[in-house]
Amino acid sequence: MKNVHKQYGANDVIKGVDLQVEDNEVVVLIGPSGAGKSTVLRMINGLETTTTGEIMIDGEDIAKPGVDINKIREKIGMVFQHFNLFPNMTVRENITLAPVELGVMDKDAANVEADKLLATVGLSEKADDNPSSLSGGQKQRVAIARALAMKPEIMLFDEPTSALDPEMVGDVLGVMRRLAKQGMTMVIVTHEMGFAKEVADRVVFFGDGKILEQGTPEQIFDHPQHPRLQTFLNQVL
Ligand code: ATP
Ligand code: MG
Repeated sequence: MKNVHKQYGANDVIKGVDLQVEDNEVVVLIGPSGAGKSTVLRMINGLETTTTGEIMIDGEDIAKPGVDINKIREKIGMVFQHFNLFPNMTVRENITLAPVELGVMDKDAANVEADKLLATVGLSEKADDNPSSLSGGQKQRVAIARALAMKPEIMLFDEPTSALDPEMVGDVLGVMRRLAKQGMTMVIVTHEMGFAKEVADRVVFFGDGKILEQGTPEQIFDHPQHPRLQTFLNQVL
């Protein structure tokens, strides 16, 4: 992202953000409510447009006229706080829908892939169930498997554990931790500071629509410089 701004009406919510994420990098975005973390994630996969500035994915400007945003989006998996699973399908159908509809795989290949993904998130026995019969943590692991079914190059997570009961959080973070270890490029908004400390290559602190500080987990958590970051950490740690 280069000098990205976003306005909603007269309201400046993103005020000049420069952010580069490398292949295989795990970047965690932290910051107070309303800082603009979700807006940044949503702009990265084209769910929101920028007002000014440039966002390049793999060298391609996603705002360029004529660019096929759906093609770019296929490279980017996104996981939300509220799972957004399709309620009237089985777990396996949730996972196979996009790759089959978009012609990435035929139905048989997609089913094989779905069962592999369900095994990696520990939910093989739930393949034929309806999402409504799953716990929150199980739903979120299905949502992650569904995003992975498109074989994305980048995964975006927006507070994936915030809606979960505490005892469900660990399983979801465990799946994310394994993805990170496998070299997935990830941008994660989370309030799980312990997880950020352990998994992030880089932590980026947002405040009031801007990046106020960024660095390694050690720099950010053990030696915060910006007063707003110090205050934020005192509140959340
Ligand atoms: P939280 O931690 O609460 O999720 P956040 O850092 O993700 O906060 P955003 O959701 O990105 O914050 O919101 C940034 C600002 O943009 C907020 O002031 C919010 O009110 C505003 N905003 C977000 N989406 C819209 C919208 N669709 N229309 C108008 N204003 C919006
Ligand atoms: Mg948010």
